[in-house]
Amino acid sequence: MYKIVVTRKIPGIEQAEQILPRSWQLWVNPSEQPLTRSELIEQARDADAILVCDDRIGAGEMAELPNLKVLCNYGVGLDNLDLQAAAERGIAVRNLPDEVTYSTAELAVALMLACMRRLGEADRLVRSTNPFDWKPTIIIGRNLRRKTLGIIGFGRIGQKTAEIAKAFEMQVIYYNRTRKLEAEQRLGAEYCSLEELLQRADIVSLHVPGGPETRHLIGAEQIELMKPEAVLINVARGMVVDEQALTAALKSRRIAAAGLDVFEREPLVTEELTKLPNVILTPHIGVTTWETRWAMTAKALEKIHHELARLSQSD
Ligand code: NAP
Repeated sequence: MYKIVVTRKIPGIEQAEQILPRSWQLWVNPSEQPLTRSELIEQARDADAILVCDDRIGAGEMAELPNLKVLCNYGVGLDNLDLQAAAERGIAVRNLPDEVTYSTAELAVALMLACMRRLGEADRLVRSTNPFDWKPTIIIGRNLRRKTLGIIGFGRIGQKTAEIAKAFEMQVIYYNRTRKLEAEQRLGAEYCSLEELLQRADIVSLHVPGGPETRHLIGAEQIELMKPEAVLINVARGMVVDEQALTAALKSRRIAAAGLDVFEREPLVTEELTKLPNVILTPHIGVTTWETRWAMTAKALEKIHHELARLSQSD
């Protein structure tokens, strides 16, 4: 019999009894709030696996969880876990790289549409001026159709974004640290340098991972290369963009607009950004659709089940 701790209330956890053996014990945090460190340790002290929802689990926590065999992150990023400490203790670490791809790419395209059609401004106009003053020039936006989309980071989400963009007849160019010939051919995408991409794209969409290598990949110097009518989309990680430089560029209309799902000091969003009309802000909702959440929960439970069953066979 194994014990599994789920650190937050998650959609679809009711499926657990269809996936895990009935004899296994499941403890789910009943609150919408994250567990404190001491609550986590208390609940997981005798746990064999933890389904981790954004909690930080470092070497110190692992040292207090002697039974722990599996950590499964409820997402793709692993920046909240100390991977080296886990490896040293023989703890298997799993994540959900495939389940999150479609929804995150779809949000990138939703932000592109929202920026190009100025949906934030349109929504605020209707709420503030009722009846609204219709005229042929009211909130004139731009179509996505036939625009050049520059994708930075051509992995799972970047490629899915390109695939969806094709339905809008967009021309896709991309920059990645390694060239992706198969995807290039399959999606009709053109490889170019970061500088060329920034100069040519009508919309720049970021899909690289976070970390020291991509910190401020887009700063004042890179924004300076962009077209004045360009739009920047970030559904990757806040640290990839120098937010101060972006805020200044949006304020001075050096670029037209931005759609941001992630922020440098997340969950804090600067007051300056919230006051700008030409930015669409979403609270890190790349994967939060019912379909994706259910799929993530089922896959996380399957991975934990698989890993613990494998360990029990090798005992
Ligand atoms: P992925 O498949 O690993 O793709 C990342 C791509 O970025 C890879 O092709 C990688 O190149 C490239 N890359 C890495 N470092 C680079 C650099 N310094 N310069 C240029 N290219 C670089 O990851 P994914 O599943 O598409 O996810 C991308 C990111 O999206 C995640 O890491 C996460 O930060 C973010 N995300 C956000 C949400 C949300 O809710 N907003 C949800 C899911 C994911 P190689 O092929 O050479 O390694």
